[in-house]
Amino acid sequence: MKNSLALHGGAPVRTALLPYGRQWVSEEDVAAVVEALRSDWLTTGPRVATFEEAFATAVDTRYAVAVSSGTAALHVAVAALKLGVGEEVIVPTLTFAASANCVVYQGATPVFADVDPDTLLLSSHEVERLITPRTRAILAVDYAGAVCDYAALREIATRHGLHLIADACHSLGARRDGHSVGSLADLTAFSLHPVKHITSGEGGVVTSDDPELAQRLRLFRNHGITTDHREREQRRQWQYQMVELGFNYRLTDIQCALALSQLQRLPEFVARRQAIAHRYDAAFAELPGLSPLRVPSGVHHAYHLYVVRLATERLTVDRDTILQALRAEGIGANVHYWPVHLHPYYQNSHGTRPALCPVAEEAARRIVSLPIFPRMTDADVEDVISAVGKVLAAFSA
Ligand SMILES: *Cc1c(COP(=O)(O)O)cnc(C)c1O
Repeated sequence: MKNSLALHGGAPVRTALLPYGRQWVSEEDVAAVVEALRSDWLTTGPRVATFEEAFATAVDTRYAVAVSSGTAALHVAVAALKLGVGEEVIVPTLTFAASANCVVYQGATPVFADVDPDTLLLSSHEVERLITPRTRAILAVDYAGAVCDYAALREIATRHGLHLIADACHSLGARRDGHSVGSLADLTAFSLHPVKHITSGEGGVVTSDDPELAQRLRLFRNHGITTDHREREQRRQWQYQMVELGFNYRLTDIQCALALSQLQRLPEFVARRQAIAHRYDAAFAELPGLSPLRVPSGVHHAYHLYVVRLATERLTVDRDTILQALRAEGIGANVHYWPVHLHPYYQNSHGTRPALCPVAEEAARRIVSLPIFPRMTDADVEDVISAVGKVLAAFSA
């Protein structure tokens, strides 16, 4: 029974489930958090500014604004551009729901775009096709940690007078043609969730080179109030003015202490993700039944996800059965994503329907995300490779 599938009662490749992603918190990180806890400032203190400056430097941009989540980062980006009712933002459908929800929060309308079949990145042709007189912005998503073709998107945006927003929640540390993600769009949103490249528990960052936009981001993160608590204390002022409707999207000093400490290891984290991806690429090159995504040339990939597409026509079962079989083997395979326009909320409230984005819909039935995170050992990586080989062999047509 050694080679029989765990799904059918055989011995699994491993007993403890390997998740698709998880954080790596070091003793230095813990010490940094403890130090923040013992300091005078738990929130709106000096660690926020220190983290923001370090982050801006790391992604080669002028301004970074820390907020309470990646979703908040996307929301303040859309709010800072004053997008609203009757205006459209083009968003790829193969993404996390928050990429589109942030547009809806401000009363604007997400227009769902299909993706390129080889890279699953937002297709520039699709963007061009979906532009109407109401279009105000393009919101690109660096799916899996690859980098969209921002040169092409910028050209389209300039020609039509549109803003360019990047959802870079997958691509911290990535570059395209030598340019860092974070410096390629008008506004770029990052997430500091534990499955992402660096973490603060929950958290997010928006970057920009534009001082006015950076000012607006800071305003929206703090209720639309022009000064924060620390600034007023320094100036010995008590008055403040709320000039816009904003939110409390602040990130605490405790979280910024963790994020700043994690940021020191970003290059190491990305390098480890790339090494794991290259081992998978080599192992899967000759495996019929599965193909990795194409990486556009010039992309220094951040590999938030390692996504493969199943050649389901060569298999006797569907993707969901493969996923279950991998999980039974102890491999926490996952799916990123079910296309956003197919979620009941968007079908009910925005009238989106199947067949709107055929490439993404077809891909969504074939994709599997395999575990990839810096703390995985080489033995973990080999477990994934053997489980994939075992499961595909058992179900090959
Ligand atoms: C993680 C993620 C978000 C949301 O980030 P949170 O920090 O969880 O709010 C948004 N977009 C994409 C593509 C993501 O992967």
